[in-house]
Amino acid sequence: MERLYKPHRVIELLKAYGFHMSKSLGQNFLIDGNIVRKIVDLAEVDGENVLEIGPGLGTLTEEIAARAKRVLAVEIDKRLQPVHEETLAYDNLRVHYDDFLKMDPVLIDEAFDGEPFVVVSNLPYYVTTAILTKVIEQTKAKRIVVMVQKEVARRFSAKPSTKDYGSLSVFVQFYAHVSYGFDVPKTVFIPNPNVDSAVVKFELRDRVADVDRENLFKIVRGAFSKRRKTLLNALSTYGFDLSKAEIEQALEASNIDPKRRAETLTPEEYIVLSINMKVT
Ligand code: SAM
Repeated sequence: MERLYKPHRVIELLKAYGFHMSKSLGQNFLIDGNIVRKIVDLAEVDGENVLEIGPGLGTLTEEIAARAKRVLAVEIDKRLQPVHEETLAYDNLRVHYDDFLKMDPVLIDEAFDGEPFVVVSNLPYYVTTAILTKVIEQTKAKRIVVMVQKEVARRFSAKPSTKDYGSLSVFVQFYAHVSYGFDVPKTVFIPNPNVDSAVVKFELRDRVADVDRENLFKIVRGAFSKRRKTLLNALSTYGFDLSKAEIEQALEASNIDPKRRAETLTPEEYIVLSINMKVT
């Protein structure tokens, strides 16, 4: 069967099924074979179990199914079922129709017999953070390769002391080693989206069991609340129930100069600080 990523094939399918793309579900479909292959190459799916969130017409899905062990694709839009019956008839693939955010994660474990898996997704941008948070916190994903807004990809993968580095960078890098994959032009989608996109890769770290995440994330938020000020100044005016002297002590116990700014600390330094500074 002819591959889906040919623009004329996508247009034919949309016409044949009278399918109208939904803007509110973030339906921008890929039509470029090179980009599809680059995403799947980056995800290293050969012989792996793969969860795809939002298969759309199935453009990425068919490339994944050709290489992976098993594929579970979760699609919110049930109107795509008849299209999938034509485009996604692979023995190692199952499509589950549900909102990923409402889906019981146990179903993913069942699909893969409890084995770890890779996530690949051209994410609907309006739910990027919610979907990633669910994948990271509630599933056994070992690697995630996703297309997101370019600006968000930069923030996810930013290094300390760069302009894109902020609380979001520390949050995601607490969970994963994040690397920027590549840019994706607007022209490879039907319809063209309003924003530029990029593909980003997360290699999930082993869970750091004894870190109080709520405490850590509050400190990170407090530190970045005044990016231009010193850490001591930002943290002591944020409203934590600690005196300036106590905060200074916690910074010193963590080997962090109180005069440094939030954007210079690595995620590891924030973890050490969170052990010495209790704000919850
Ligand atoms: N993977 C396809 C591609 O690259 O051409 C489609 C990508 S499109 C940007 C996003 C897809 O996610 C759409 O098919 C949309 O219906 C689906 N989607 C949106 N919100 C979802 C959700 N909460 N759960 C599952 N799928 C969702």
